[in-house]
Amino acid sequence: RVLTLAWMLPIAVLIERIGRGLNLTNYSQMTDFNLYLALSAEAVVMTMAIAWRVHQVRRERDEALVLGHRLADEALTDALTALPNRRDFDRRVWRRTDMLGILDLDRFKRVNDTYGHETGDEVLRVTGRLLESKVRSGQLLRAWRLGGEEFAVAIAASSIDEGAIVLNAIRDGIRAEIAARVPDVKFAVTASAGVARIGEEGMRKAYRAADSALYTAKSNGRNRLCWETGHSEIATIFPRRRFAA
Ligand code: GH3
Ligand code: MG
Ligand code: MG
Repeated sequence: RVLTLAWMLPIAVLIERIGRGLNLTNYSQMTDFNLYLALSAEAVVMTMAIAWRVHQVRRERDEALVLGHRLADEALTDALTALPNRRDFDRRVWRRTDMLGILDLDRFKRVNDTYGHETGDEVLRVTGRLLESKVRSGQLLRAWRLGGEEFAVAIAASSIDEGAIVLNAIRDGIRAEIAARVPDVKFAVTASAGVARIGEEGMRKAYRAADSALYTAKSNGRNRLCWETGHSEIATIFPRRRFAA
C-alpha cells in the first residue's frame, strides 16, 4: 500500500506528460518540474516505509528469539514441579566426582487412591520445591523429575558415604516437608533412594547402580537409602543409622 501511495504522484505526473506529448492536455511546460517534486516525495515516503518495515522485522525477530528461548526452557522443564525434566537430565555432562541419586516416593499410588490425583499432584509439587531449595542452598548440584514420582539429583561430595549422608537428610526431609505442607494426607509419605558415584565408568553404569540400589531399598522395606560399597555389598541408611548388609 505504501509502495502504491509513493508511486502514485510520479505516475500521475508521467501520465500527464504523455497526455501532453499526444496533445491530449495543454498544461504548461512548467508542470515538468512536478516530476522532480513527485520523485522526491516518493523517495521520502519509501525511505520512511523501509525504516518502518525494518523496525517491524527487528521486533518480530526479537519476539521470535524470546519465544524460542522460552520454548527451549519449557522443553527441558517439568510442567508440574517446575524442576528440570528427563530431557534435561539426559543432556547433562557429568563429572567423575559427581554422585547420582535416584529418589522414589513410597506407595505414592496410595496417596492418589486415598485423597485423589490433585492431592497427589500437590505432594509432587512440594517434593519438587524442596529439591529445588536444596539446589539453591548448594546442597545439590541439580535436581530433576524423571517422571511419575521419581526424581534424580546430582550431588558434589568427596566420597560416596558423604554423598549418601547428604542425600539421606534430603530423603528424610521429603517426608517432613510433605507432612507439613500437605496436612490432608494423614499417613507418612516417605521416599526411598539409591545413590552411586559417576566415577571412571560413567553415567550409564552409575545410573544402573543407583537404580539397583533404589530397588534394594524398596524391597528391603522402603523409607531408606542404599548404595553399593566397593565390595559388591549394599550399605543402607535407615532412617539415620548405617549398616552393611
Ligand atoms: P513404590 O513404593 O513401589 O514406588 O509404590 P508406588 O505406589 O509409589 O509406585 P507405583 O509405580 O505403583 O505407582 C506410582 C503412581 O504414581 C501411579 C501413578 O498414577 C502415579 N503418578 C504418576 N505420575 C503422576 C502425576 O503426575 N500426578 C499424580 N497425582 N500421580 C502420578
Ligand atoms: Mg513410588
Ligand atoms: Mg516409581
